Amino acid sequence: MARMLSILATRVDFIGTTSYSKGNNRAIFSAIARLISGYDSAQSIQELMLLPEGVIWSKVTEGHEGLLVDRFHVGLQTGNSEPLLMMPVSAISSMLQEVTQRFGSGGEMILYNQGKAYSLARFAAIKRGLGPNPETRLEEIAAMTCAAGWAIVKAKLEPGGNAIEFNNFECFECSTSKSRRSSCSFLRGMAAGLVEALFRKEVTSEETKCKGRGDEACTFIVKPRDGSPLGGALSLNRSAKVGKIEESEGTVN
Ligand SMILES: [Zn+2]
Repeated sequence: MARMLSILATRVDFIGTTSYSKGNNRAIFSAIARLISGYDSAQSIQELMLLPEGVIWSKVTEGHEGLLVDRFHVGLQTGNSEPLLMMPVSAISSMLQEVTQRFGSGGEMILYNQGKAYSLARFAAIKRGLGPNPETRLEEIAAMTCAAGWAIVKAKLEPGGNAIEFNNFECFECSTSKSRRSSCSFLRGMAAGLVEALFRKEVTSEETKCKGRGDEACTFIVKPRDGSPLGGALSLNRSAKVGKIEESEGTVN
């Protein structure tokens, strides 16, 4: 790949590149690039890319009238090869808003149940990676939720160990400019599903503050339904604080 890049360096101006391994010493490289010389074409660059030893296949397509179409990749996938759909947050947020406007409290219940089911399914998918004491990995799970774009999550065990408080900044449900939501049932369900999976206890989940109601963040309090402490290996002082929060406080670049 290094040889191919050094050949291309004098012929194209890379705007963005992606590369990833396919195993067995094979890798995919893809890029959006601008031709440097008017003498080159998509065809000539495609042929050039095949010159270095080890390059198996190349395809270069040209954009027309400002539209460049990716004709190579077919859908996104997670590391577990689950297919993903990419959609603007505003579109998902507006879809959920429509459900709650049409069905009222019944709609909120649907979203809560779906959020909880989603969280339980995600936990099952990543469980192996969390090791024998997943309840001690709250910080990493919060970071994953943040990286996936759901919200910027700060989670902490409440003093006494009876509940976990989630503070979600930029929650996808109510933080978009067009949102008229004042409660975020999908994420309330996600928080419930996570705590239930981590501690294997039936829980209640309440949204005590909501950005949609003018609060700084959406706050969810999740606690065991029977009032028992969450206990276990989780330190009472432990809190999970993820990158973007620290970034907004200016401590991380
Ligand atoms: Zn909210």
